Amino acid sequence: MTLVETTQTPPVLISTPPSVLLIAAHPDDEYYCAATLYRVARELNGIVDQMIVTDGAGGHRFAALAGHVYGLDLTEGGKDHALLPEIRREESLRAGKLLGVRHTEFLGQPDPGYTQQERDAHRAWRLHELKHRIEKRILSHVYDAIFVLSPNPGEHGHHIAVANLTIEILDMLPAQQRPLLLAVEPAHSSRPATNPPVFQFSRSRAVSRAESLTYSVIVNWLIAEYKSQGLFQLESGRHDCERFWPLGLTDPERARYFLAQIG
Ligand SMILES: [Zn+2]
Repeated sequence: MTLVETTQTPPVLISTPPSVLLIAAHPDDEYYCAATLYRVARELNGIVDQMIVTDGAGGHRFAALAGHVYGLDLTEGGKDHALLPEIRREESLRAGKLLGVRHTEFLGQPDPGYTQQERDAHRAWRLHELKHRIEKRILSHVYDAIFVLSPNPGEHGHHIAVANLTIEILDMLPAQQRPLLLAVEPAHSSRPATNPPVFQFSRSRAVSRAESLTYSVIVNWLIAEYKSQGLFQLESGRHDCERFWPLGLTDPERARYFLAQIG
């Protein structure tokens, strides 16, 4: 989908398939916008690429159950524990296939585990290399929009770091080369939004040509692909919508128009 600036406000849309890049801190982060990504890739024949910043070595506390399925000892200190990044890489590729992701780029930064502090990510990551790789992808591909996870206070510090790094990168680009930047969070429609959303995608809607089956089915399939992510399995059915709002220099009206084409 291409946005063309005209003298009119808001800009006119040309109906070509949308292209989206998700920049995620961890394997499984695509859960936040899984239904929307499925809609773009599989139903609108758009492009969905993703970058996964960390190797997913953190969050191992509840991986033991997956070890039963994979025939490995994934308990803390277990002999196969070091295989977790490779297992999660495979899980994210399977999940990506399910959603219709075209390309997944693994950036292999260390994952020292859960924190609410952005500075912990800065300490752990090779920031110069990371910034260079994100910039390279954005400049060498044409994306209508970049999705990042909510950087609100209280969110995972790695998510906050990815969002702020992306804002920094996009701020340096000329306006005509700058994709829309959208934060996303999964939510329940009965609860108030943390940020006023410019768009909300309902997971309770029926998927095209799927009779009465809804996007929640797709989301549950995605969750099931991430067997090593332990507590993540309990998220099934918890959120019935995905909420988006603009970040950085992104104009809310342009964001609204782009997302309305998806919905
Ligand atoms: Zn995450």
